[in-house]
Amino acid sequence: MAASHIPSDVPVLPADLQPSDGRFGCGPSKVRPAHTNALAASPLMGTSHRQAPVLNLVASIREGLRALYHLPSDWEIAIGNGGSTAFWAVATTSLVRTRAAHAVFGEFGQKFADETLAAPFLSPSLVISAEVGTVATLVDERALSAFAQDEGPDVDLCAYPHHETSTGALSPLYRVTPGSAGVTADALTVVDATSIAGGVAADVTATDVYYFAPQKCFASDGGLWFAFLSPAAQERARTLHGQADRWMPQFLDLSVALDNSVKNQTLNTPAIATLIMMDEQIQWMLAHGGLSAMEARCRASSGVIYEWAKAHPFASPFIPREEWRSPVVATIDFDEAIDAAYLARVLRANGVVDVEPYRKLGRNQLRIATFPSVDTADVEKLVASIDWVIAQRV
Ligand SMILES: *Cc1c(COP(=O)(O)O)cnc(C)c1O
Repeated sequence: MAASHIPSDVPVLPADLQPSDGRFGCGPSKVRPAHTNALAASPLMGTSHRQAPVLNLVASIREGLRALYHLPSDWEIAIGNGGSTAFWAVATTSLVRTRAAHAVFGEFGQKFADETLAAPFLSPSLVISAEVGTVATLVDERALSAFAQDEGPDVDLCAYPHHETSTGALSPLYRVTPGSAGVTADALTVVDATSIAGGVAADVTATDVYYFAPQKCFASDGGLWFAFLSPAAQERARTLHGQADRWMPQFLDLSVALDNSVKNQTLNTPAIATLIMMDEQIQWMLAHGGLSAMEARCRASSGVIYEWAKAHPFASPFIPREEWRSPVVATIDFDEAIDAAYLARVLRANGVVDVEPYRKLGRNQLRIATFPSVDTADVEKLVASIDWVIAQRV
């Protein structure tokens, strides 16, 4: 990008090291230029979301997601405004009957747990947490004994992030067995896939709710949530909608979102630009081999970063266990000899942006998104750029 904006104390990256696209942020993330061009050319902007052209666009997104995930016909896709953060509130009112359990191993998992913990109509949630950099599950031995020893009411909703974006940790995808110790016979498993949906192959039928937002792997803009719902999850939403003693604003009522979504609508006005770019990305994913091809792409890109870290004594992957290491968000720790904030500042001044670590983690770290839209060749340029910046300083 324009070298004229670079402060005089910051080295200017040689042109051959400059990635063709310098966006490596974890959300909002790189939007493919072809998709912003499609947006500019679309006749749908500024037209009614209750008329056929936009309804057909929403239908195309829903069908595309069904095709990507091979969703069974009795599963539904609900859509609403407010992003994944809004979905935490929706799930708190519309899916938790009495009590939730959460696996927490970073900021995003904690945020959902905070919502159910604060709900006055729910029993205090059971939270099973693990240190950042690791993964807590609700099905390992530690969790099973926590469920067995717990003295509160049985849990009817089990929640965890498939991918913790604040740390770059990937959880296995699993269902908590309904009826196991401390868990009701109709317990739902609800999974935050905000930053991993579209980036790895996943059998979502191993869960009951798999939800995400469009501004990460789907390379669109923020503001919407999407949720795949099993028949059991749909039934829970319908039942709680009818429960007289629960105050449920329409905006947080999942049964209302479901009624609208099957008509390819949302309760209130969606961002049409977000829908247009999301549809472009879904069609691009389908045309380029679907989820397994996207996973291969992301693993190739993130592999460049992990291999680079392993080859440098001053750098190391933050996630110690390889099976937990994210294919879409690579977090690299640096030892004291290297100032990661300086690296990020030089890169940013040179148009290579958003590689700073998650703000609350407070580590000497870079966090680099390798979502499907990011080209592996650009990741190779990025690590070469980091080498170059380090060499300038010494
Ligand atoms: C980004 C993110 C969120 C928040 O998404 P919003 O659409 O901004 O509310 C939630 N969970 C995870 C795992 C995320 O990565």
